[in-house]
Amino acid sequence: MDRKVRVRFAPSPTGPLHIGGVRTALYNYLFAKKNNGDFILRIEDTDQNRFVEGAEEYIIEAFKWLGLQFNEGVGVGGNFAPYRQSERTVYKDYALKLVENGWAYYAFDTPEELDAMRKECESQKKNFQYDCNTRQGLRNSLSLSENEVDALLKNNVPYVIRFKFPVNTDVVLNDLIRGEVKMNTSLLDDKVLFKSDGLPTYHLANVVDDHLMEISHVIRGEEWLPSCPLHVMLYRAFSWEETMPQFAHLPLLLKPEGNGKLSKRDGDRLGFPVFPLQWKDPKTGEISSGYRESGYLPQAVINMLALLGWNAGTEQEIFSLEELVQAFTIDRISKHGAKFDLTKAKWFNHHYFQELANEDIAKDYIKILDNLDLKGINTDLTFVVQVVGLVKERCDFLSDLWDNSHYFFVAPQTYDGKVVNKRWKDDAGRRMAEILVEMRHIAQQTPDDDNLFAHNTEEFLHRFIEENQLNIGQIMNCIRLALVGEGKGVNLVDIMKLIGSNETIKRLDKAIKVLGC
Ligand code: GLU
Repeated sequence: MDRKVRVRFAPSPTGPLHIGGVRTALYNYLFAKKNNGDFILRIEDTDQNRFVEGAEEYIIEAFKWLGLQFNEGVGVGGNFAPYRQSERTVYKDYALKLVENGWAYYAFDTPEELDAMRKECESQKKNFQYDCNTRQGLRNSLSLSENEVDALLKNNVPYVIRFKFPVNTDVVLNDLIRGEVKMNTSLLDDKVLFKSDGLPTYHLANVVDDHLMEISHVIRGEEWLPSCPLHVMLYRAFSWEETMPQFAHLPLLLKPEGNGKLSKRDGDRLGFPVFPLQWKDPKTGEISSGYRESGYLPQAVINMLALLGWNAGTEQEIFSLEELVQAFTIDRISKHGAKFDLTKAKWFNHHYFQELANEDIAKDYIKILDNLDLKGINTDLTFVVQVVGLVKERCDFLSDLWDNSHYFFVAPQTYDGKVVNKRWKDDAGRRMAEILVEMRHIAQQTPDDDNLFAHNTEEFLHRFIEENQLNIGQIMNCIRLALVGEGKGVNLVDIMKLIGSNETIKRLDKAIKVLGC
């Protein structure tokens, strides 16, 4: 019978979650959903020295924002609770089991002794390793007599429990992404499984929990590949090989230039977040930017991350979460690192920003406008919805709206010098004055109907240009300058419709006064 797919995301709460970690979680999620499996959140917090206040809450909030729901785990519960390793008490028994069956041993060497050993080796230009070659010469239950060990344990002399790698044995694992990976135990050190502080190390806790939680597939970053032979050997030592999960080690997320792992420093240097949410370091107070606070939409972050290291084998780039679930397979994950691409990230956000309802965008935009504290501006929902409808195509983010639509709310205070020099020259001012006279007429004929005013003005302008054999760009750009203050903005008729006849006339009048006839 096929095994139920159960995968876990197992972060250590040592700070904010790196976006590469979010990608790992996403691939786990997609794989679970595709295979009707379970997606589990396990918090691996057995390294007390690295514990950071608030990191666990941050992780949970990040996944809530992204819309990736866990079936079980911290904050959700489930049949295999507790899911926070610091609350699990099973590890010591398992470590002792390995001592009993000869796969592990007590080691009583003090940190000072090990340090001295390391220094001694360094002075001889050698690397110190606690392994099958050195362990007989160190203070452990392999080198000491049974009586000595008993006495040490009785006297509560601190100890760690180390894994006893067999001598010169090939460990082979079949990684779902990398294929066969082989390593010889002679190269590996006897890793600590259980620490003198009474807590397990990552290796022991990870394997024990993956077994007890019936994890079928371990999908994680490739930085864990070197540890995997130890994990495989642990399954052997516990006689759990039959239910050992399958492993898939994901390639790194690389710097935009392509060499080296994407780091927070790259984000600071190039101006993009490397964390899903903003993070305030509880010790230093330092703030790191987040995708959410930078205006990225969760759909965009998910779509972008999915394609950083995986592709569907087609040209398709836009995927909803549901479509990703349908299309996702591990065999289409690349073996090579994926370069982070800021332009692409914005491109994805642009796409999903366009999909939002104008009314929803407008409601958020009104909050921004209210914060600007500009007296007397029109923040009426119907009006703002229309503005959004006109300019959103030019925006990647909510925060781009003001730059692209300020002129709907406030008249220009200044005029772009470059555009003035290029457009407001020769008899442009005089022409504008003629146009202003006619605009006033049109306004009188179309009271209370700004749409008709804009429409009639447009017709008049075209006639005026034709009759006077003028250049269309010249005239229209001068009017644009008067209404917007610069050479950009949406269609002039749309601007006139929305700001209305009074405001249009007022702005043109002012421009003529300021820029001259
Ligand atoms: N706690 C490990 C981490 O922080 C988990 C690695 C794994 O998935 O096995 O990444």
